[in-house]
Amino acid sequence: MNAVTALLWHREIYILKEVNMERRFIYADNAATTAVSDEVLAAMMPHFQTAFGNASSIYEMGRNAQRDIEIAREKVAKAIGADPIEIIFTSCGSESDNWAIKGTAEQMAKKGKKHIITSVIEHHAVLHTTEYLEKQGFEVTYIPVDDKGLINAEDVRKAIREDTALVTIMYANNEIGTIQPIDEIAAICKENKVLFHTDAVQAVGHVEIDVHKQGIDMLSLSGHKIHAQKGIGALYVRKGVVLPNLIHGGGQERRKRAGTENVPAIVGLGVAMEIACSNIAEKAAVVTEKRNRIIDGLLTIPYTRLNGDREKRLPGNLNISFEGIEGESLLLMLDMFGICASSGSACTSGSLDPSHVLLSIGLKHEIAHGSLRLSIEENLTDEDVDYILETVPVVAERLRAMSPVWEKMMKGESYE
Ligand code: PLP
Repeated sequence: MNAVTALLWHREIYILKEVNMERRFIYADNAATTAVSDEVLAAMMPHFQTAFGNASSIYEMGRNAQRDIEIAREKVAKAIGADPIEIIFTSCGSESDNWAIKGTAEQMAKKGKKHIITSVIEHHAVLHTTEYLEKQGFEVTYIPVDDKGLINAEDVRKAIREDTALVTIMYANNEIGTIQPIDEIAAICKENKVLFHTDAVQAVGHVEIDVHKQGIDMLSLSGHKIHAQKGIGALYVRKGVVLPNLIHGGGQERRKRAGTENVPAIVGLGVAMEIACSNIAEKAAVVTEKRNRIIDGLLTIPYTRLNGDREKRLPGNLNISFEGIEGESLLLMLDMFGICASSGSACTSGSLDPSHVLLSIGLKHEIAHGSLRLSIEENLTDEDVDYILETVPVVAERLRAMSPVWEKMMKGESYE
């Protein structure tokens, strides 16, 4: 324990004692990642030491591995209304996004189509990919969002051009949970004969998805957000959509993505998808109720605001800004109280840049800095909710008491 940790530790004990609270451990960062579930782990285990065959091998153990991959593919496909042949296993959501976008760009450029449409609030797996393509000579239109983080589907229609190769709009936002009008956007793309990809990494398992009915051409998903392990994902590619091979080599994944299959992870993803995508409506109702209790409770703290739309949002997501508070300090102090939370996307929470998503919905830099994202699931107990509602106000008060920005705000002085 170094000096700073020791100091923080004493401080934590002191604060807990002072407010007469018993420390709990609450994991409220499921949008960052989730624990592998017992069912997923149990399904994976045999594939490490007993059923470890190479799925390309001719003997029984290899054939069984191939069979188990195909069973997993069926489960993933069924969970999102696709055909198994339309599912390709990847290593993560970022890979799926990269492949869908760069692959389509490469393919369509051959037809002279070098324009891509996306939104300003995409995950960096999409934004950094489109930025890369801009450097390769593609033109990209970034659709804005309103103050709730919602895209107007008509803006997509207006942005479509003769040379538009792809529209890629996320299903639900990872920071503020906003769910986009995916059906409308897909219909507009279909009308205009433009391919439509959606990054559904945060939506899968929380929102009912039927890719065929909804007219989605490509969809990215990731295992570690739904209780499978890290390092496994999938890309749905509608039959008829041509995507160049990602990895050249062996014949795996219909020659599209070579490399000996990660059978345990694939099997785990199949089980995770089956569980996550069953009873979505019932689970969502339970989680939404808990989430709303937390939102209502936290909004009683002065100078707070809810980021994102109250209704069109992921059941487990809440994102609240606290004026006069630094997000990093908030996270550190909540950690002392045993609460794991986030202040933006996991990859940006370590950086001092304010979240591009929060800036896009019109938040000022200093307010965007003081934001808290909690992403909860149905296992959060009522006692956990009570604990969050008791803890956050104490933490906010203490941080504001130390904040020069808050002091200036209270004196009515400019603090920008
Ligand atoms: N897209 C969204 C919306 C995400 O939230 C994430 C991860 O946070 C990703 C893509 C990247 O997924 P992965 O971590 O599996 O690469």
